[in-house]
Amino acid sequence: MGGKSLFEKVWDEHVVVPETADTPAVFYIDLHIIHEVTTPQAFNMLRESGMQVRKPDQVLATMDHSTPTVPIENLEESLDAVSDPEPANQIRAMVKNCADFGIELHGFGSEHRGIVHVIGPEIGATQPGKTIVCGDSHSSTHGAFGAMGFGIGATMVGHVLATQCLLMRKPKSMAVNVTGKLKPGVGAKDIILALIGRIGVDGGTGHVIEYRGDTIRGLNMEERMTICNMTIEAGARAGMIAPDATTIEYLRGREKVPQGDAWDAAVERWMALASDPDASFDKEVTLDVAELEPQVTYGTNPAMVVPISRPVPNPGDNQSYRKSIDYMQVAADKPMLGTKVDVVFVGSCTNSRMTDLRNVAKILDGRKVADNVRMLIVPGSESVKKQAEQEGLDKIFTAAGAEWREAGCSMCLGMNSDKLGKGQLCVSTSNRNFEGRQGPGGRTVLASPETAAASAVAGVIADPREVI
Ligand code: SF4
Repeated sequence: MGGKSLFEKVWDEHVVVPETADTPAVFYIDLHIIHEVTTPQAFNMLRESGMQVRKPDQVLATMDHSTPTVPIENLEESLDAVSDPEPANQIRAMVKNCADFGIELHGFGSEHRGIVHVIGPEIGATQPGKTIVCGDSHSSTHGAFGAMGFGIGATMVGHVLATQCLLMRKPKSMAVNVTGKLKPGVGAKDIILALIGRIGVDGGTGHVIEYRGDTIRGLNMEERMTICNMTIEAGARAGMIAPDATTIEYLRGREKVPQGDAWDAAVERWMALASDPDASFDKEVTLDVAELEPQVTYGTNPAMVVPISRPVPNPGDNQSYRKSIDYMQVAADKPMLGTKVDVVFVGSCTNSRMTDLRNVAKILDGRKVADNVRMLIVPGSESVKKQAEQEGLDKIFTAAGAEWREAGCSMCLGMNSDKLGKGQLCVSTSNRNFEGRQGPGGRTVLASPETAAASAVAGVIADPREVI
Protein backbone atom coordinates (compact mmCIF):
# COMPACT_ATOMS: atom_id res chain seq x y z
CA MET A 1 0.00 0.00 0.00
CA GLY A 2 1.33 3.46 -0.91
CA GLY A 3 1.91 6.34 1.48
CA LYS A 4 -0.69 8.91 2.47
CA SER A 5 -1.14 12.42 1.18
CA LEU A 6 -1.49 15.42 3.49
CA PHE A 7 -5.24 15.43 2.85
CA GLU A 8 -5.60 11.71 3.60
CA LYS A 9 -3.76 12.11 6.89
CA VAL A 10 -6.06 14.92 7.99
CA TRP A 11 -9.15 13.09 6.74
CA ASP A 12 -8.30 9.83 8.53
CA GLU A 13 -7.69 11.63 11.83
CA HIS A 14 -11.16 13.19 11.77
CA VAL A 15 -13.44 10.34 10.73
CA VAL A 16 -15.73 9.51 13.65
CA VAL A 17 -17.79 6.92 11.75
CA PRO A 18 -16.51 5.73 8.34
CA GLU A 19 -18.65 6.11 5.25
CA THR A 20 -20.40 3.12 3.67
CA ALA A 21 -22.01 2.67 0.28
CA ASP A 22 -25.24 4.02 1.75
CA THR A 23 -24.11 6.58 4.30
CA PRO A 24 -21.56 9.40 4.37
CA ALA A 25 -18.86 9.56 7.03
CA VAL A 26 -19.43 11.38 10.31
CA PHE A 27 -16.56 13.87 10.20
CA TYR A 28 -15.22 15.83 13.18
CA ILE A 29 -14.69 19.59 12.93
CA ASP A 30 -11.98 21.24 15.05
CA LEU A 31 -12.80 24.87 14.39
CA HIS A 32 -16.02 26.54 13.29
CA ILE A 33 -15.72 30.17 12.22
CA ILE A 34 -19.00 32.07 12.13
CA HIS A 35 -20.17 35.46 10.91
CA GLU A 36 -23.42 37.40 10.95
CA VAL A 37 -24.89 36.38 7.59
CA THR A 38 -25.12 32.57 7.64
CA THR A 39 -25.90 32.12 11.34
CA PRO A 40 -29.32 33.63 12.25
CA GLN A 41 -31.21 30.63 10.86
CA ALA A 42 -28.82 28.19 12.60
CA PHE A 43 -29.23 29.82 16.00
CA ASN A 44 -33.01 29.88 15.53
CA MET A 45 -32.89 26.15 14.80
CA LEU A 46 -30.98 25.57 18.04
CA ARG A 47 -33.51 27.63 20.01
CA GLU A 48 -36.50 25.85 18.49
CA SER A 49 -35.00 22.42 19.25
CA GLY A 50 -33.87 23.39 22.75
CA MET A 51 -30.24 22.59 21.88
CA GLN A 52 -27.03 24.23 23.03
CA VAL A 53 -23.83 24.87 21.09
CA ARG A 54 -21.84 21.65 21.55
CA LYS A 55 -18.36 23.20 21.90
CA PRO A 56 -18.52 27.00 22.18
CA ASP A 57 -14.74 27.19 22.72
CA GLN A 58 -14.25 25.72 19.23
CA VAL A 59 -16.29 28.49 17.64
CA LEU A 60 -14.62 31.68 16.46
CA ALA A 61 -17.12 34.47 15.88
CA THR A 62 -16.71 37.79 14.14
CA MET A 63 -18.64 40.23 11.96
CA ASP A 64 -17.43 41.07 8.48
CA HIS A 65 -19.87 40.51 5.58
CA SER A 66 -22.52 43.15 6.29
CA THR A 67 -20.48 45.50 8.40
CA PRO A 68 -20.00 49.07 7.23
CA THR A 69 -16.40 50.06 6.51
CA VAL A 70 -16.78 53.49 8.03
CA PRO A 71 -16.13 53.88 11.77
CA ILE A 72 -18.77 52.74 14.27
CA GLU A 73 -18.21 54.34 17.65
CA ASN A 74 -21.29 53.00 19.38
CA LEU A 75 -23.24 50.09 17.94
CA GLU A 76 -26.71 51.25 18.93
CA GLU A 77 -26.18 54.91 18.23
CA SER A 78 -24.34 54.80 14.93
CA LEU A 79 -25.28 51.53 13.20
CA ASP A 80 -28.54 52.85 11.74
CA ALA A 81 -26.74 55.89 10.40
CA VAL A 82 -24.14 53.94 8.42
CA SER A 83 -25.93 50.76 7.40
CA ASP A 84 -29.03 49.55 5.56
CA PRO A 85 -31.65 48.00 7.89
CA GLU A 86 -31.12 44.34 6.90
CA PRO A 87 -27.35 44.22 7.49
CA ALA A 88 -27.83 46.25 10.67
CA ASN A 89 -30.29 43.64 11.95
CA GLN A 90 -27.87 40.81 11.09
CA ILE A 91 -25.19 42.55 13.12
CA ARG A 92 -27.52 43.03 16.11
CA ALA A 93 -28.67 39.39 15.89
CA MET A 94 -25.06 38.19 15.91
CA VAL A 95 -24.33 40.10 19.11
CA LYS A 96 -27.41 38.59 20.81
CA ASN A 97 -26.85 35.03 19.50
CA CYS A 98 -23.23 34.90 20.66
CA ALA A 99 -24.21 36.26 24.09
CA ASP A 100 -27.12 33.79 24.43
CA PHE A 101 -25.05 30.74 23.44
CA GLY A 102 -21.82 31.56 25.27
CA ILE A 103 -19.64 32.23 22.21
CA GLU A 104 -16.86 34.79 22.37
CA LEU A 105 -17.50 37.39 19.65
CA HIS A 106 -14.79 39.48 18.05
CA GLY A 107 -17.21 42.31 17.33
CA PHE A 108 -16.88 46.07 17.10
CA GLY A 109 -14.27 47.28 19.55
CA SER A 110 -12.32 43.99 19.42
CA GLU A 111 -8.78 44.24 18.12
CA HIS A 112 -9.42 40.90 16.38
CA ARG A 113 -12.53 41.78 14.39
CA GLY A 114 -12.09 41.22 10.69
CA ILE A 115 -12.76 38.93 7.77
CA VAL A 116 -13.30 35.33 8.94
CA HIS A 117 -10.41 34.00 6.84
CA VAL A 118 -8.04 36.75 7.91
CA ILE A 119 -8.51 36.57 11.67
CA GLY A 120 -8.35 32.76 12.02
CA PRO A 121 -4.69 32.60 10.93
CA GLU A 122 -3.87 35.93 12.53
CA ILE A 123 -4.71 34.79 16.07
CA GLY A 124 -3.27 31.30 15.50
CA ALA A 125 -6.66 29.54 15.67
CA THR A 126 -5.93 28.17 12.20
CA GLN A 127 -3.38 25.41 12.69
CA PRO A 128 -1.94 22.56 10.60
CA GLY A 129 -3.96 19.36 10.61
CA LYS A 130 -7.19 21.00 11.80
CA THR A 131 -10.54 20.68 10.09
CA ILE A 132 -12.03 24.16 9.74
CA VAL A 133 -15.44 25.15 8.41
CA CYS A 134 -17.28 28.41 7.93
CA GLY A 135 -20.46 29.48 6.19
CA ASP A 136 -18.39 31.10 3.46
CA SER A 137 -17.02 29.39 0.35
CA HIS A 138 -13.52 30.79 0.72
CA SER A 139 -12.82 28.77 3.86
CA SER A 140 -10.32 26.97 1.66
CA THR A 141 -7.96 29.84 2.66
CA HIS A 142 -7.04 27.99 5.88
CA GLY A 143 -5.56 25.15 3.82
CA ALA A 144 -2.43 27.29 3.41
CA PHE A 145 -1.48 25.99 6.87
CA GLY A 146 -2.01 22.31 6.08
CA ALA A 147 -5.50 22.48 7.58
CA MET A 148 -8.55 21.18 5.72
CA GLY A 149 -10.79 24.23 5.41
CA PHE A 150 -14.04 24.25 3.48
CA GLY A 151 -17.25 26.22 3.19
CA ILE A 152 -20.62 24.96 4.41
CA GLY A 153 -24.21 26.11 3.89
CA ALA A 154 -26.45 27.71 6.51
CA THR A 155 -28.12 24.39 7.43
CA MET A 156 -24.77 22.73 8.00
CA VAL A 157 -23.71 25.68 10.16
CA GLY A 158 -26.54 24.59 12.48
CA HIS A 159 -25.39 20.95 12.39
CA VAL A 160 -21.84 21.86 13.34
CA LEU A 161 -22.97 24.21 16.11
CA ALA A 162 -25.14 21.41 17.55
CA THR A 163 -22.81 18.41 17.07
CA GLN A 164 -19.30 19.63 16.11
CA CYS A 165 -19.57 17.10 13.25
CA LEU A 166 -20.67 16.95 9.63
CA LEU A 167 -21.88 14.19 7.36
CA MET A 168 -19.71 14.00 4.26
CA ARG A 169 -18.20 11.74 1.63
CA LYS A 170 -14.43 11.59 1.22
CA PRO A 171 -13.33 13.82 -1.69
CA LYS A 172 -10.70 12.71 -4.22
CA SER A 173 -7.20 14.16 -4.22
CA MET A 174 -5.41 16.29 -6.78
CA ALA A 175 -1.82 17.55 -6.86
CA VAL A 176 -0.99 20.90 -8.44
CA ASN A 177 2.77 21.25 -8.91
CA VAL A 178 3.89 24.84 -9.41
CA THR A 179 7.41 25.35 -10.75
CA GLY A 180 9.53 28.27 -11.99
CA LYS A 181 10.70 31.61 -10.59
CA LEU A 182 8.14 34.42 -10.76
CA LYS A 183 9.13 37.63 -12.56
CA PRO A 184 8.83 41.00 -10.73
CA GLY A 185 5.25 42.29 -10.76
CA VAL A 186 3.80 38.77 -10.92
CA GLY A 187 2.56 37.09 -7.75
CA ALA A 188 0.36 34.55 -6.00
CA LYS A 189 -2.89 36.01 -7.37
CA ASP A 190 -1.59 35.62 -10.91
CA ILE A 191 -0.63 31.99 -10.22
CA ILE A 192 -4.08 31.03 -8.98
CA LEU A 193 -5.90 32.94 -11.73
CA ALA A 194 -3.71 31.25 -14.35
CA LEU A 195 -4.39 27.84 -12.81
CA ILE A 196 -8.16 28.41 -12.83
CA GLY A 197 -7.90 29.62 -16.44
CA ARG A 198 -6.07 26.41 -17.30
CA ILE A 199 -8.24 23.83 -15.49
CA GLY A 200 -11.56 25.69 -15.59
CA VAL A 201 -14.19 26.44 -12.94
CA ASP A 202 -14.89 22.73 -12.61
CA GLY A 203 -11.30 21.48 -12.94
CA GLY A 204 -11.09 20.59 -9.25
CA THR A 205 -14.68 19.44 -8.69
CA GLY A 206 -14.90 16.66 -6.10
CA HIS A 207 -11.22 16.98 -5.19
CA VAL A 208 -9.03 18.40 -2.46
CA ILE A 209 -6.06 20.09 -4.13
CA GLU A 210 -2.57 19.97 -2.63
CA TYR A 211 -0.30 22.75 -3.94
CA ARG A 212 3.31 21.61 -4.18
CA GLY A 213 6.62 22.55 -5.75
CA ASP A 214 9.43 25.06 -5.27
CA THR A 215 7.35 28.08 -6.26
CA ILE A 216 4.81 27.33 -3.53
CA ARG A 217 7.58 26.70 -0.99
CA GLY A 218 9.02 30.13 -1.83
CA LEU A 219 5.77 31.99 -1.05
CA ASN A 220 5.13 33.55 2.35
CA MET A 221 2.02 32.51 4.33
CA GLU A 222 -0.07 35.43 3.11
CA GLU A 223 0.68 34.56 -0.50
CA ARG A 224 -0.11 30.91 0.17
CA MET A 225 -3.46 32.00 1.62
CA THR A 226 -4.23 33.87 -1.63
CA ILE A 227 -3.64 30.64 -3.57
CA CYS A 228 -5.71 28.40 -1.27
CA ASN A 229 -8.44 31.04 -1.01
CA MET A 230 -9.34 30.84 -4.69
CA THR A 231 -9.19 27.03 -4.87
CA ILE A 232 -12.95 26.99 -4.55
CA GLU A 233 -13.19 28.93 -7.82
CA ALA A 234 -11.82 25.84 -9.59
CA GLY A 235 -14.66 23.85 -8.04
CA ALA A 236 -12.44 22.00 -5.53
CA ARG A 237 -13.62 21.18 -2.01
CA ALA A 238 -10.43 22.50 -0.40
CA GLY A 239 -6.84 23.48 -1.15
CA MET A 240 -3.93 22.56 1.09
CA ILE A 241 -0.20 23.23 1.43
CA ALA A 242 2.01 21.07 3.63
CA PRO A 243 3.35 22.84 6.73
CA ASP A 244 7.03 23.77 6.59
CA ALA A 245 9.45 26.16 8.32
CA THR A 246 7.58 29.16 6.85
CA THR A 247 4.33 27.92 8.40
CA ILE A 248 5.93 27.33 11.79
CA GLU A 249 7.58 30.77 11.85
CA TYR A 250 4.28 32.45 10.98
CA LEU A 251 2.44 30.68 13.82
CA ARG A 252 5.14 30.98 16.50
CA GLY A 253 3.94 33.11 19.42
CA ARG A 254 0.40 33.72 18.13
CA GLU A 255 -2.33 33.88 20.75
CA LYS A 256 -4.10 30.55 20.18
CA VAL A 257 -1.15 28.27 19.39
CA PRO A 258 0.13 25.84 22.04
CA GLN A 259 2.87 27.19 24.30
CA GLY A 260 6.06 25.73 25.86
CA ASP A 261 6.49 21.95 25.56
CA ALA A 262 3.09 21.69 23.91
CA TRP A 263 4.39 23.95 21.11
CA ASP A 264 7.35 21.64 20.44
CA ALA A 265 5.05 18.62 20.37
CA ALA A 266 2.67 20.42 18.03
CA VAL A 267 5.49 21.38 15.64
CA GLU A 268 6.62 17.75 15.49
CA ARG A 269 3.06 16.63 14.77
CA TRP A 270 2.53 19.33 12.15
CA MET A 271 5.76 18.64 10.27
CA ALA A 272 4.77 14.96 9.96
CA LEU A 273 1.63 15.95 8.04
CA ALA A 274 3.47 16.42 4.71
CA SER A 275 2.48 13.93 2.03
CA ASP A 276 4.56 10.77 2.08
CA PRO A 277 7.01 10.56 -0.85
CA ASP A 278 5.07 7.62 -2.31
CA ALA A 279 1.61 9.17 -1.84
CA SER A 280 -0.49 9.07 -4.97
CA PHE A 281 -3.17 11.46 -6.21
CA ASP A 282 -6.28 10.88 -8.29
CA LYS A 283 -5.28 13.73 -10.60
CA GLU A 284 -2.10 15.77 -11.17
CA VAL A 285 -1.41 19.10 -12.94
CA THR A 286 1.87 20.99 -13.40
CA LEU A 287 2.04 24.75 -13.93
CA ASP A 288 5.31 26.44 -14.94
CA VAL A 289 5.16 30.11 -13.91
CA ALA A 290 8.59 31.27 -15.08
CA GLU A 291 7.07 33.19 -18.00
CA LEU A 292 3.79 34.06 -16.28
CA GLU A 293 2.39 37.56 -16.90
CA PRO A 294 -0.01 39.47 -14.63
CA GLN A 295 -3.48 38.02 -15.18
CA VAL A 296 -6.83 39.81 -15.58
CA THR A 297 -10.31 38.39 -15.97
CA TYR A 298 -12.44 39.56 -18.87
CA GLY A 299 -15.70 37.69 -18.27
CA THR A 300 -18.06 36.68 -15.50
CA ASN A 301 -16.33 33.68 -14.01
CA PRO A 302 -12.73 33.47 -12.75
CA ALA A 303 -11.68 31.04 -15.50
CA MET A 304 -12.35 33.72 -18.11
CA VAL A 305 -8.87 35.13 -17.62
CA VAL A 306 -6.02 36.26 -19.87
CA PRO A 307 -2.40 37.35 -19.47
CA ILE A 308 -2.59 41.15 -19.38
CA SER A 309 -0.91 41.69 -22.76
CA ARG A 310 -2.95 39.04 -24.58
CA PRO A 311 -6.28 39.62 -26.39
CA VAL A 312 -9.64 38.58 -25.00
CA PRO A 313 -10.46 35.30 -26.77
CA ASN A 314 -13.08 35.44 -29.48
CA PRO A 315 -16.13 33.53 -28.21
CA GLY A 316 -17.04 32.30 -31.70
CA ASP A 317 -20.26 30.27 -31.40
CA ASN A 318 -20.05 29.97 -27.62
CA GLN A 319 -23.20 31.89 -26.68
CA SER A 320 -22.51 31.79 -22.98
CA TYR A 321 -19.05 33.35 -23.43
CA ARG A 322 -20.48 35.93 -25.83
CA LYS A 323 -23.18 36.88 -23.30
CA SER A 324 -20.50 37.18 -20.67
CA ILE A 325 -18.22 39.53 -22.60
CA ASP A 326 -21.25 41.53 -23.74
CA TYR A 327 -22.18 41.99 -20.07
CA MET A 328 -18.61 43.08 -19.36
CA GLN A 329 -18.70 45.41 -22.42
CA VAL A 330 -15.26 44.21 -23.51
CA ALA A 331 -14.16 43.64 -27.09
CA ALA A 332 -13.01 40.23 -28.31
CA ASP A 333 -9.56 40.00 -29.94
CA LYS A 334 -8.23 43.02 -28.03
CA PRO A 335 -6.31 43.07 -24.71
CA MET A 336 -7.96 44.36 -21.53
CA LEU A 337 -5.06 46.83 -21.23
CA GLY A 338 -6.30 50.38 -21.61
CA THR A 339 -9.93 49.63 -20.61
CA LYS A 340 -11.36 52.56 -18.64
CA VAL A 341 -11.72 51.91 -14.91
CA ASP A 342 -14.30 53.49 -12.56
CA VAL A 343 -13.44 51.84 -9.24
CA VAL A 344 -10.45 49.99 -7.81
CA PHE A 345 -11.05 47.76 -4.80
CA VAL A 346 -8.12 46.41 -2.79
CA GLY A 347 -9.42 44.07 -0.12
CA SER A 348 -11.28 40.78 0.59
CA CYS A 349 -10.02 37.56 2.14
CA THR A 350 -7.97 37.01 -1.03
CA ASN A 351 -5.82 40.13 -0.87
CA SER A 352 -6.22 42.34 2.21
CA ARG A 353 -3.19 41.39 4.29
CA MET A 354 0.08 43.21 4.93
CA THR A 355 1.91 41.74 1.92
CA ASP A 356 -0.87 43.01 -0.35
CA LEU A 357 -1.03 46.46 1.24
CA ARG A 358 2.75 46.88 1.13
CA ASN A 359 2.77 45.96 -2.57
CA VAL A 360 0.02 48.49 -3.27
CA ALA A 361 1.83 51.17 -1.24
CA LYS A 362 5.03 50.67 -3.30
CA ILE A 363 3.09 51.61 -6.42
CA LEU A 364 1.00 54.44 -4.92
CA ASP A 365 3.92 56.07 -3.11
CA GLY A 366 4.47 59.48 -4.72
CA ARG A 367 1.73 58.91 -7.31
CA LYS A 368 -1.93 59.94 -7.57
CA VAL A 369 -5.06 57.90 -8.23
CA ALA A 370 -6.48 59.05 -11.58
CA ASP A 371 -9.36 61.56 -11.44
CA ASN A 372 -11.82 59.12 -13.01
CA VAL A 373 -11.16 56.41 -10.40
CA ARG A 374 -12.54 55.84 -6.90
CA MET A 375 -10.08 53.61 -5.03
CA LEU A 376 -11.05 51.81 -1.81
CA ILE A 377 -8.38 50.08 0.27
CA VAL A 378 -9.96 47.90 2.94
CA PRO A 379 -7.77 46.04 5.45
CA GLY A 380 -8.75 42.45 6.23
CA SER A 381 -8.82 42.95 9.99
CA GLU A 382 -8.40 45.49 12.75
CA SER A 383 -4.93 44.20 13.35
CA VAL A 384 -3.93 44.53 9.68
CA LYS A 385 -5.28 48.08 9.87
CA LYS A 386 -3.23 48.85 12.96
CA GLN A 387 -0.04 47.37 11.49
CA ALA A 388 -0.51 49.24 8.19
CA GLU A 389 -0.95 52.50 10.09
CA GLN A 390 2.13 51.82 12.18
CA GLU A 391 4.08 51.43 8.92
CA GLY A 392 2.56 54.68 7.56
CA LEU A 393 0.86 52.94 4.64
CA ASP A 394 -2.43 54.73 5.32
CA LYS A 395 -0.68 58.06 4.75
CA ILE A 396 0.64 56.86 1.39
CA PHE A 397 -2.85 55.68 0.39
CA THR A 398 -4.67 58.84 1.39
CA ALA A 399 -1.96 61.12 -0.08
CA ALA A 400 -2.52 59.29 -3.38
CA GLY A 401 -6.25 59.97 -3.13
CA ALA A 402 -7.43 56.47 -2.12
CA GLU A 403 -10.00 55.83 0.63
CA TRP A 404 -8.59 53.99 3.67
CA ARG A 405 -11.49 52.11 5.28
CA GLU A 406 -12.37 50.04 8.33
CA ALA A 407 -11.89 46.24 8.17
CA GLY A 408 -14.53 44.07 6.52
CA CYS A 409 -15.57 42.22 3.38
CA SER A 410 -16.62 45.52 1.85
CA MET A 411 -16.96 45.51 -1.94
CA CYS A 412 -16.18 41.80 -2.29
CA LEU A 413 -19.88 41.00 -2.35
CA GLY A 414 -22.20 44.01 -2.43
CA MET A 415 -23.91 42.99 0.82
CA ASN A 416 -23.01 46.12 2.77
CA SER A 417 -22.93 49.80 1.84
CA ASP A 418 -19.85 49.44 -0.41
CA LYS A 419 -21.30 48.64 -3.82
CA LEU A 420 -20.60 49.29 -7.48
CA GLY A 421 -23.08 51.41 -9.40
CA LYS A 422 -24.81 49.97 -12.47
CA GLY A 423 -22.34 49.63 -15.35
CA GLN A 424 -19.28 50.65 -13.31
CA LEU A 425 -16.11 48.70 -14.03
CA CYS A 426 -14.03 47.71 -11.01
CA VAL A 427 -10.54 46.25 -10.94
CA SER A 428 -10.84 44.14 -7.82
CA THR A 429 -8.45 42.02 -5.77
CA SER A 430 -11.37 39.86 -4.62
CA ASN A 431 -12.23 36.37 -5.82
CA ARG A 432 -15.53 36.41 -7.73
CA ASN A 433 -16.53 38.28 -10.87
CA PHE A 434 -20.07 36.96 -11.30
CA GLU A 435 -22.67 39.35 -12.71
CA GLY A 436 -23.59 41.84 -10.02
CA ARG A 437 -21.31 40.32 -7.38
CA GLN A 438 -20.10 43.77 -6.33
CA GLY A 439 -23.45 45.47 -6.83
CA PRO A 440 -26.30 45.16 -9.38
CA GLY A 441 -25.02 45.80 -12.91
CA GLY A 442 -21.42 46.19 -11.72
CA ARG A 443 -18.57 44.78 -13.83
CA THR A 444 -15.67 43.10 -12.05
CA VAL A 445 -12.16 42.50 -13.36
CA LEU A 446 -10.21 40.26 -10.99
CA ALA A 447 -6.51 41.05 -10.66
CA SER A 448 -3.58 41.19 -8.25
CA PRO A 449 -3.04 44.08 -5.82
CA GLU A 450 -0.17 45.30 -8.03
CA THR A 451 -2.35 45.35 -11.16
CA ALA A 452 -5.14 47.05 -9.19
CA ALA A 453 -2.78 49.77 -7.95
CA ALA A 454 -1.21 50.37 -11.38
CA SER A 455 -4.69 50.61 -12.90
CA ALA A 456 -5.83 53.07 -10.21
CA VAL A 457 -2.96 55.38 -11.12
CA ALA A 458 -3.40 55.02 -14.88
CA GLY A 459 -7.21 55.29 -14.82
CA VAL A 460 -7.31 52.33 -17.18
CA ILE A 461 -6.30 48.68 -16.83
CA ALA A 462 -2.51 48.85 -16.65
CA ASP A 463 0.46 46.49 -16.43
CA PRO A 464 2.15 46.75 -13.02
CA ARG A 465 5.48 45.71 -14.52
CA GLU A 466 5.67 49.13 -16.14
CA VAL A 467 5.53 50.99 -12.82
CA ILE A 468 7.51 48.63 -10.58
S1 SF4 B 1 -14.17 38.84 1.62
FE1 SF4 B 1 -15.69 37.98 0.23
S2 SF4 B 1 -15.18 35.83 -0.06
FE2 SF4 B 1 -14.01 36.62 1.71
S3 SF4 B 1 -15.24 36.10 3.49
FE3 SF4 B 1 -15.86 38.14 2.87
S4 SF4 B 1 -17.56 37.87 1.42
FE4 SF4 B 1 -16.57 35.87 1.69
